Amino acid sequence: MHTHDCRSCQTLQDLFQRAAAACVRAAIEARDLGPDWGVFLCDPEDLVPEEPDRLEGLRAALLVGYYVAPVTIAALDRLGRNRGERAAPDVVALDRLNMAPPEGSVHMLGAVRDCIATVLVEADPQRLPELDREAALDQRLDELLRLAQPLIQRTLREDPRALTEDQPPDMLFIVLAPSDPRIDRFVMNCPERSAEERDRLVAEARELGVYVDLQPRVTVLAKLPLEEFRPSDTTRLLERVYQAVPPNAGHVVTVHERRLEVTVVERVA
Ligand SMILES: [Zn+2]
Repeated sequence: MHTHDCRSCQTLQDLFQRAAAACVRAAIEARDLGPDWGVFLCDPEDLVPEEPDRLEGLRAALLVGYYVAPVTIAALDRLGRNRGERAAPDVVALDRLNMAPPEGSVHMLGAVRDCIATVLVEADPQRLPELDREAALDQRLDELLRLAQPLIQRTLREDPRALTEDQPPDMLFIVLAPSDPRIDRFVMNCPERSAEERDRLVAEARELGVYVDLQPRVTVLAKLPLEEFRPSDTTRLLERVYQAVPPNAGHVVTVHERRLEVTVVERVA
């Protein structure tokens, strides 16, 4: 792993989390195939022609946003060394692949761009129901962000507060489901908003199926008590909203139940 603000390493962290259920399923398959097998996880955008055996699952992978499959340890080692080439390959992590994993666990190599990491996955079917519930929440977060995109793009184009020279940006987008009671904290409990504006925001959210609001970072952090969220999500929130973004981009915090996601969205010309 590189420094914590390496964008590819962050994507990789996200993949590990989002693909958790699929990784356990692949680990169960790999364990059944034998001790020479492990699991490969990558961003489907990265699948390269030298890996023709992976292209079969590409369409499905592009839909879910990750590619995961059982792969031999020898192939994982090779994939890891190829991927790590331009950056310094994480030799220690790759050497770990060749050590026998603990009973019930399987080696996994994750790769995004030139960043790689190895982890152990427990091939434990009992974890699947919980992980599947988490995956459903992730899908809902994706859906909300997709619905929010047109409004985010419009705001990035039209609202001068959305794009400033300040880094990290002191304004960010909050995205919520229209049924989320947390909307009240941003709409109703805001004396600075006129009754007219409040009504418009609520009506717009219902119509679009998503609530999108540009708010100061400090307000968002104050109105989203961290204990409402999964600890790993709050850690990510606090890390990422203080990171710089490319010009013409803003942070988006998408929230659903006890999950949240922080995304960098760039203005499309
Ligand atoms: Zn990295």
